[in-house]
Amino acid sequence: MDQDVAAKEQPRYIKLNERDNVAIVVNDFGLPAGSRFASGLTLRAFVPQGHKTSLVDIAEGAPIIRYGEIIGYALAPILAGEWVDEARIRMPEAPDLDKLEISTAVPAPLPPLDGFTFEGYRNPDGSVGTKNILGISSSVQCVKGTMEYAVKRIRAELLPKYPNVDDVVPLTHAYGCGVAINAPDAIVPIRTLQNLALNPNFGGEILVISLGCEKLAPERLVPEGVSDAIVRMQDEAFDGFGAIVDAIMTQAEARLKILNKRTREACPASDLVIGLQCGGSDAFSGVTANPAVGFAADLLVRAGATVMFSEVTEVRDAIQLLTRRAINEDVGRALVREMAWYDSYLARGGADRSANTTPGNKKGGLANIVEKSLGSIVKSGSSAITGVLAPGERATQKGMLFAATPASDFICGTLQLASGMTLQVFTTGRGTPYGLAAAPVIKVATRTELARRWKDLIDFDAGRIATGEKTIEETGWDLFRLILDVASGRTKPWSDRWGIHNDLTLFNPAPVT
Ligand code: CA
Repeated sequence: MDQDVAAKEQPRYIKLNERDNVAIVVNDFGLPAGSRFASGLTLRAFVPQGHKTSLVDIAEGAPIIRYGEIIGYALAPILAGEWVDEARIRMPEAPDLDKLEISTAVPAPLPPLDGFTFEGYRNPDGSVGTKNILGISSSVQCVKGTMEYAVKRIRAELLPKYPNVDDVVPLTHAYGCGVAINAPDAIVPIRTLQNLALNPNFGGEILVISLGCEKLAPERLVPEGVSDAIVRMQDEAFDGFGAIVDAIMTQAEARLKILNKRTREACPASDLVIGLQCGGSDAFSGVTANPAVGFAADLLVRAGATVMFSEVTEVRDAIQLLTRRAINEDVGRALVREMAWYDSYLARGGADRSANTTPGNKKGGLANIVEKSLGSIVKSGSSAITGVLAPGERATQKGMLFAATPASDFICGTLQLASGMTLQVFTTGRGTPYGLAAAPVIKVATRTELARRWKDLIDFDAGRIATGEKTIEETGWDLFRLILDVASGRTKPWSDRWGIHNDLTLFNPAPVT
């Protein structure tokens, strides 16, 4: 025991790849100048936890290598044992989208993993939910207050009568009117709203609240063959606000009756649709949490599940590693298409990929978006990439998909819900209370120090990988089992226990009017 403690206090760094000429400091709160590592390297300056030190002398203009890849070039000579902070690194150019290798290193199929199940809610269309929720959709922001008023009453007056239903969730948003509804990119928010209502956790019971004069016709949010699913506030049959709310309550109760008949049943793990995301990343993200998630993702893929990773600006600078893994030419081209679309979207706004890294990322040791991306794509594991979804498209394939979304936590979460995600795994280094009302979110800490301090917000500690207490494989298996437990409703993640959830936030790349 005492030996363990002493071992932990030894100056430690993590070098990820043979080629690396920098390594990150593991010890909590960093290490002072003069700290001597087992390798013989001595620090010349204080290096904060998660930040890089040079393992060798690096000449001016020479590449700085982490993950075996170039994360930048030395702006001035760097001596071994110095702190390699962001100000000393020039960022490389993004990979040229016209010169990428496609499907040149497609991983062989992983061995199937049979026999793993979870308790889910099977829907008539074959999809399986992890929760039983009445989702009430809307065609325009004008009705938001009315919806929230109605939902408050539904929760108080109706929900107690239908104990098998977990919650009532208003799918509120800022879209629907005052927007260029026919602009080419308007398909993104519209498709997102259409597919959000179809999320498996809502059991196929659709109800749309509309104003009546908005640009986004509510009929567009109702699948063909579904009738009587729209309440229009301007309908002349309504005499006052009370009558409108009564109509919403009546429609809601009809759906609650149906949803209340849903029960959990054993479903194969192949029925899971898992979203992966990160937020508040630090230099440990790519060392602990994301590798553990990547291992769990491989287990899910082996079990036949659908898994999606996202966040275009966090894969753009490592895209050359992903196009090689595309299962075929079409999937590779679709990856390039999504990168190119986002490049032009950012250029239109006068921004580029360097706008992604936050002050918190940098404080956590990530010098730039290249280093962040190399750590981010580790979440996708080691399988072939079998499909690509444009923002808000619904997943129809199994395996590891790339669902193109912005990296913004709330927008990525919303778009993954539209793609049919029923549980999200979220890795964080700096810490965030992030949660979604429509699907459970498992928050994975990159460092044990954060997991301890936020013991009632973080669901899973991947930091033990850095201290050597656990392997990536052990941690990945633990996470896989936690995913099955949470999907079955046996374990509630902290964001659901506290009831703290982020807003749905649509991605609208089209003009407003
Ligand atoms: Ca994010």
